Amino acid sequence: MKFQEFSKFPGGVHPTDGLDKRLSNQESIFKYIPEVVEISMKQSGGSACQVVVKQGDHVTIGQIIGEPKGFGAAAIHASMNGTVIEIKIVKDAKGQETTVCVIQAEETKLIENELEYSNKLIDLTDISKERIIGAMKDSGLIGMGGAGFPTHIKYETNKKIQYVLINGAECEPFLTCDHRLMLEYGMEIVNGANLLVKAADATKGIICLEDNKKDAAEHLKKLLGDVSSSLEVKVLPTKYPQGGERQLVQAVTGIEVPMGGLPADVGIIISNVATAKAIADMIFAQIPLVSRCITITGRVKKPRNYLVPIGTKFSDLIELSGGFEVTNNRLILGGPMTGACLAINVKAEELEGSVTKTSSGIVVLENNNEGESPCIRCEACARVCPAGIVPFKINHAYIDENIDICEKLYATECIGCGSCSYVCPAKIELAYRVMEARGEINRRKRERGVK
Ligand code: SF4
Ligand code: SF4
Repeated sequence: MKFQEFSKFPGGVHPTDGLDKRLSNQESIFKYIPEVVEISMKQSGGSACQVVVKQGDHVTIGQIIGEPKGFGAAAIHASMNGTVIEIKIVKDAKGQETTVCVIQAEETKLIENELEYSNKLIDLTDISKERIIGAMKDSGLIGMGGAGFPTHIKYETNKKIQYVLINGAECEPFLTCDHRLMLEYGMEIVNGANLLVKAADATKGIICLEDNKKDAAEHLKKLLGDVSSSLEVKVLPTKYPQGGERQLVQAVTGIEVPMGGLPADVGIIISNVATAKAIADMIFAQIPLVSRCITITGRVKKPRNYLVPIGTKFSDLIELSGGFEVTNNRLILGGPMTGACLAINVKAEELEGSVTKTSSGIVVLENNNEGESPCIRCEACARVCPAGIVPFKINHAYIDENIDICEKLYATECIGCGSCSYVCPAKIELAYRVMEARGEINRRKRERGVK
């Protein structure tokens, strides 16, 4: 297949001028080992894990502490050597009760080993597809771009896969953890991308970035050189939500994923750049998914990226970032377009929660929420919706509690990108309500036994 040059997806917005990203993308990733981690047993999009250690147990880094029991769960490992000092129930960012395993570190010194796969392309001839998929499972690997779906399930597909798209678009404003990862862990990502291509039996892997990360694109191209024929780097125009799965497929290949379908239906699998690094860590260094890079930015005194053990407390990271610049703050977990509100008007030391495998960032904004005003039917929300649905109509139907109409208006196609809410002059929480409608439709379908 020949790719269309700069093919586009419909809708989308240009939320910022890029200065928001410059807050945190100029400095190298800061590595930090805390004294205590609080590891949640619910880290993937599916079921929670069952904790298999108890208070007083000594644990070693990489040891399984949470076993997956239901669909969509992925194993959880100790992210440091230490002692389990508490097992407790807390409320997560979505308000759901979650079991958390608290580990006191044995030591907080950083040990850095120079690993072969960090500085050269590794020959994968002796590594089978089955071994890679097995490693995904053992590593507790999930999509680290936000969805949190167990990676091995994606790669166990019986569909014929032509392309693996390695998603480094990072289109959300403010977030730069993937950008820094590509600059500083480029060879790990390249080796991981080759592993993902092999796991999918694909013809090609394409590392996709927006053109606001040209330095990372050049770096990755240089690393690939002429050696790897199964990988290429594709630079796309900067436009939100370029990193959405359907939008990325359309922008890179020109193929539209059918409504209700998955990228695998058109021969494509998408994995995030951090996921690519994580599978390389597991295959070449036997390190399961026990750490991640996270952006702490916005109205903090020192915005930057951190590489931390899973379970690092958010309050530690805010403190390391110099604290808040504003007391009337609103903290978003993830990017400002799709992230969940973590806290409002909070003091750093009172902030609850800890890093999970999908925590891409915390964005601190000034809390100047003015509230909603009536819809003026300008239809701006419909024009920017990349899913091609009409958010204001679904919003009205949802407020009227008419879920059947929401379904007829294809609320299930919403990808939760937040573009509609962003452009709405009436500040209506469109994305939230369309997503709620989507959830309700899917819940009713499950009750009726409809897939
Ligand atoms: S953008 Fe806001 S005001 Fe305009 S039609 Fe949509 S909901 Fe109504
Ligand atoms: S309705 Fe959903 S997909 Fe469409 S713009 Fe809003 S959040 Fe994005």
